Amino acid sequence: MTTGIVFDETYFWYDSLNQAFPPFQIQPGGNPDRPDIKRRFYNLLQQTGIFKQLTSIEPRVATTDEILRVHSTEYYQSLAEQNLLPAGEGGPGAVFAQGGVEIAKLSAGGALVAVEKVLSGEVNNAYALIRPPGHHAETNRGAGFCIFNNVALAAKHALEIGGFKRVAIVDWDVHHGNGAQEIFWRDPSVLTISIHQHYSFLEEDTGTAQYNGEGEGEGYNINIPLPPGSGDATYESAFNRAIIPALEAFQPDMIIVACGLDAGCYDPLGRMALTPQGFRFMATSIRETAERLCGGRLVMCQEGGYDLASTPYMGLGVIEGLSNITLNLENPFQVFGDSLGYTKTVLPHQEAVIAEAQRQANNIAVSNLAPL
Ligand SMILES: [Zn+2]
Repeated sequence: MTTGIVFDETYFWYDSLNQAFPPFQIQPGGNPDRPDIKRRFYNLLQQTGIFKQLTSIEPRVATTDEILRVHSTEYYQSLAEQNLLPAGEGGPGAVFAQGGVEIAKLSAGGALVAVEKVLSGEVNNAYALIRPPGHHAETNRGAGFCIFNNVALAAKHALEIGGFKRVAIVDWDVHHGNGAQEIFWRDPSVLTISIHQHYSFLEEDTGTAQYNGEGEGEGYNINIPLPPGSGDATYESAFNRAIIPALEAFQPDMIIVACGLDAGCYDPLGRMALTPQGFRFMATSIRETAERLCGGRLVMCQEGGYDLASTPYMGLGVIEGLSNITLNLENPFQVFGDSLGYTKTVLPHQEAVIAEAQRQANNIAVSNLAPL
């Protein structure tokens, strides 16, 4: 089997600019979205030799028509105008330097090409190592470093060019996948599942379990808002009892993953405790599910991840699971992660969240799927 990898040097040139902190009593700077982190992930893949075992895929720029499948004309035009200025803002926490929108189009296009290569059979599955990320971007606004919703665009692309009826998005970034939830809120053709840290994104927290979709889309959005401190055992339980059963009931024609690495145990923007092994488990679990349900058709898109040292190693776990290649290397962050006792058990307050998600997954199974 072959795993594709989308990559382009200019992804590392996307600049979220310095953060300033009103009332300006401290020097601006310290933006956590540092390009170096994803570059070091790429470097680690090269250094370990696994990159050579993957199939390189060149991205392309997403067209206006493709972007307008998901985003509003008004938002798109506003970005085009701001792209000419020294700095633009797609929404809260989505500031970009001049020219950034062009790189965001190449990022979205990277997700689209990954879908195309999987559908053509040139690769079995693919990882899009793209920047900027996308999963917080909604129809009318960007947010949290995200300009275009790459996974939503990938899902729409798969429905369009694959002639598919159902696509599933699984988002394991530590922050809520609010973008796909909003975009597909009334759409039963895209099942959106987000497993994230409770209350981890913006003040209007729409990541709680009661947000299930509306109208024809009711029941096709599942949020799994885990308590801070959740680690490998809790995620594994949520996958086995809720996420995989939901996918099995939904029977997608393709699966798209919003692959944040910021639920890793050393991430400064999350308070979760996943180890590289936990990431490898999640990637393996979804790959095997895709192989069972939809000919292995699976694309993972890079989202968050904010620690210079550990994030690349969390990502290595994902690439091993996705490609089914085991490097058997000593992973320093596995050693550290294993020293955290609380990654190994499911506590009662975590269990309650998983039980609710399991109930919602069962509801998809009994709904017999709305005819599309
Ligand atoms: Zn995140």
